Amino acid sequence: MTGTLIGVSGCTAAARGLGPVGMDEVVLAGAQRLPAEVIRVQGDVVTLQVYEDTTGLGLGEPAQATGAPLAVELGPGLLGEIYDGLQRPLAALAAAGGDFIARGITAPALDRKRRWVFTPCVKPGDHVVGGQRLGTARDAATRLEEPVLVPPDVDAVVADALAGTVSVDEPVVELRGGGTLSLLHRWPVRRPRPFRTRLSPEVPLLTGQRVLDCFFPVALGSAAIVPGGFGTGKTVLEQSLARFAAADVIVYVGCGERGNEMADVLSEFPQLVDPRTQRPLMERTVMVVNTSNMPVAGREASMYTGMAIAEYFRDQGKRVAILIDSTSRWAEALREISARLEEMPGEEGYPTYLASRISSFYERAGRVVPLSGEGEGSVTAVGAVSPPGGDFSEPVTQGSLRATTTLWALSADLAHRRHFPAIDWIQSWSLDAERLDAWFTREAGSEWHDLRAEAMRLLQREQDIAEVAELVGIDALQDAERLTLESARRVREGFLRQNAYHDVDATCSPAKALAMLRILLGAHQRATDALAKGATLKAVLSPEIDEKLLRLGETPADRMDQAKADVDAAFDAALARDRE
Ligand code: ADP
Ligand code: MG
Repeated sequence: MTGTLIGVSGCTAAARGLGPVGMDEVVLAGAQRLPAEVIRVQGDVVTLQVYEDTTGLGLGEPAQATGAPLAVELGPGLLGEIYDGLQRPLAALAAAGGDFIARGITAPALDRKRRWVFTPCVKPGDHVVGGQRLGTARDAATRLEEPVLVPPDVDAVVADALAGTVSVDEPVVELRGGGTLSLLHRWPVRRPRPFRTRLSPEVPLLTGQRVLDCFFPVALGSAAIVPGGFGTGKTVLEQSLARFAAADVIVYVGCGERGNEMADVLSEFPQLVDPRTQRPLMERTVMVVNTSNMPVAGREASMYTGMAIAEYFRDQGKRVAILIDSTSRWAEALREISARLEEMPGEEGYPTYLASRISSFYERAGRVVPLSGEGEGSVTAVGAVSPPGGDFSEPVTQGSLRATTTLWALSADLAHRRHFPAIDWIQSWSLDAERLDAWFTREAGSEWHDLRAEAMRLLQREQDIAEVAELVGIDALQDAERLTLESARRVREGFLRQNAYHDVDATCSPAKALAMLRILLGAHQRATDALAKGATLKAVLSPEIDEKLLRLGETPADRMDQAKADVDAAFDAALARDRE
């Protein structure tokens, strides 16, 4: 039904006479048919959040209900695409409207010109239900294959199934009693996709970052947040995860960060090389980007668009990581929309439902048995948070903390000292760590638990001693305490620190991390014993030993035994000199 616009305020508009509409229903607003979503219904008056700049949208212009909620297109061809928050392909938009994205322009999410060779694995008379395999689509040009599953809500009997070369929207399967299936289906972004059962968090999402995998691991299907002030390394960390995390598919949501930063991401990402295949990383990536100069409501949608895409790949049995940079911009969009609605503001002007929105978003992360009942798939979420002034007590950080299992806290102080990744090892935590211990012990080595506990104790002792030293002066410390400080420094600089720009050091396996800890903590033990037997502090802290320890990260994993022998030799030499 077509109604009339009766008010426009920022990113919201009000309309009357639309007839019965539901919350979240898409309405096309104005003569330009700008996409908008129903966010409030009061009698005959509905309030819309408009996904485009509302300048020039006039009172009295038409508003047309579409009868459908905001949805994404899911099907072969998503990988490698870059979308805006409404899943419009940026390249097609730019081609249609010039560099500045013109309003009201639409382009299908999945390229209709791309040809797919469909091979069904169902035949007439088969009963098909959601999640079941329908067939395989092979790109006619690149020959890349993607599975095609029956959409979640379907339960029907196949009347006919055709094999052949088709576009994503052409019917390939006819169902008895009417209805057809094509390679694509639509799914409402705000509705979690169903699955069979949820699995407990027992397997880590390996990140390749030592400090994370060893001390604050995140389980497949869990969620981690990365709060940090400006310049603390959120974006670099998210990009390292995109490259090195052990995920089959990456969904990267660039949400409302400054236009030029996003432009950097857009130009850098397509250049990244997948370390596993040496092919472009984009081949297993989908990007959803909304810069801060795009309309605020589109930002709000982008996280859900990204999540629905992530769940689609999860349902195919893939390990998906959804990386969001930054969730704060999404929360700010919520705040702006809430203010337009004149809702009662909560803390710092955010809507009172901020925390529940955050937690229902992160609840969509999970490791599951898909509807097919076979295998498992997962969505692991990592959300950056940009707290103003780096103050973690603000509502978005706090709301996110309560909704997730893992905190990777970035420290401005560490970033300032160029200790990267600037993960604060005292403030960070992982509720998954204990449950993942068994996995790491099995896969990396039996000393996993003990060595990581010992390293953490050393770092904790460093803090305690440093506090004492501040009061009494460093000269008042005993040699054993000075050694503890220095050994902790070696762990910080040789283990926690990791150079994202070094070929070898950029990523690290759990086995190598364990070998490094063994060498570093072994050195501490050896120095402690030597001190007790009368060696000098100077000898056990000799720069040759230091130099070898601090190079471990840049040493290839298969050279750890040699590295240990080199450290031992440096020790022998230093102690021999000491005895002379
Ligand atoms: P944020 O997104 O939090 O504002 P960035 O991710 O853009 O911060 O990081 C700011 C700068 O810090 C980078 O340009 C880089 O110079 C440095 N940096 C961050 N992380 C690392 C890292 N892991 N290794 C080396 N340098 C880093
Ligand atoms: Mg950033």
